[in-house]
Amino acid sequence: MTSHYDPVEVTPLHADELARTVDDALAAVAAAKDLDDLKQVRLAHAGDRSPIALANREIGALPPAARAEAGKRIGAARKAINEALAARHDELERERDERVLVEERVDVTLPWDVRPRGARHPLTTLAERIGDAFVAMGYEIAEGPELEGEWFNFDALNIAPDHPARSEHDTFFVGSADSGRVLRTQTSPVQIRALLDRSLPVYVVSPGKVFRTDELDATHTPVFHQVEGLAVDEGLTMAHLKGTLDRFAEVMFGEGISTRFRPNYFPFTEPSAEMDLRCFVCRGASASPGAPPCRTCKSEGWIEWGGCGMVNPRVLIACGVDPSRYSGFAFGMGIERTLMFRHNVEDMRDMVEGDVRFTLPFGMEV
Ligand SMILES: [Zn+2]
Repeated sequence: MTSHYDPVEVTPLHADELARTVDDALAAVAAAKDLDDLKQVRLAHAGDRSPIALANREIGALPPAARAEAGKRIGAARKAINEALAARHDELERERDERVLVEERVDVTLPWDVRPRGARHPLTTLAERIGDAFVAMGYEIAEGPELEGEWFNFDALNIAPDHPARSEHDTFFVGSADSGRVLRTQTSPVQIRALLDRSLPVYVVSPGKVFRTDELDATHTPVFHQVEGLAVDEGLTMAHLKGTLDRFAEVMFGEGISTRFRPNYFPFTEPSAEMDLRCFVCRGASASPGAPPCRTCKSEGWIEWGGCGMVNPRVLIACGVDPSRYSGFAFGMGIERTLMFRHNVEDMRDMVEGDVRFTLPFGMEV
């Protein structure tokens, strides 16, 4: 049918050949799965080296009379291929946009709180609460080093080197035993530092870590916390001490808590007392004959809370304070012990191990 193209037979321009080129191109366009695929199809079937481009170049080889007709057919074929490419491009682009909307959708109803929340340790919050109680009474918070000089930890507190109390404190010495440096066994050295650093009158509390060479068990830990209080002013008496500690007990354990002083001995206070709380579980009832036993106070009706007393004049003198003009009182309570009473914690190890399941129920009190 193309015999009139004589003398040159140009295969790519045969109608059958051209129709197959178009069919191949349309099939490839229809088979393109995505835009990348389609890009390859466009190169192969409409690019510079595609059969249709080749056919277009062959027009030049035709006799002039045949060129217009061939050009028309090639033009129609290219148009068909390009229209198919454009239509498929639109289609694939729409599909991609829809897929992106689905695949990259942010589900705002998903739980966002996937990292479990931590909690502050109850000893920290309790120490702060204790600090607040005293700040409300006009005290300042004082701090001191945990690595302490032996003089501050013992001598200045009227605990001479041969004093039995010195060996009762199972002391961690840093370096050799005669290095003069210890991990403080009590927060009392902060009293000494406060008296040396501050001008009188002094009203300070110092919550902090203390260290003793105890094994960790249900009731002991080698690192624990105390809160120490010191007031030095003119005219302070035991009544001021009692009133202050009664207020402290109320803040910790609720209004109406009963307290009592029992005579005791501490080298740095004279007179000295142990402060007891009326058991807030049995309210003292378990101490009566025949009453049901109480685990909290071991049926004694009272719970030992901490030590206190009037500052020994020797301590005042060691700090350059005139005991004929000034007097003072001091007290110290264990913060772990306070937490155990307040929240019925029975095992000291729970407070040490750092398990967030222990800490969380105390909430985020700040
Ligand atoms: Zn009791």
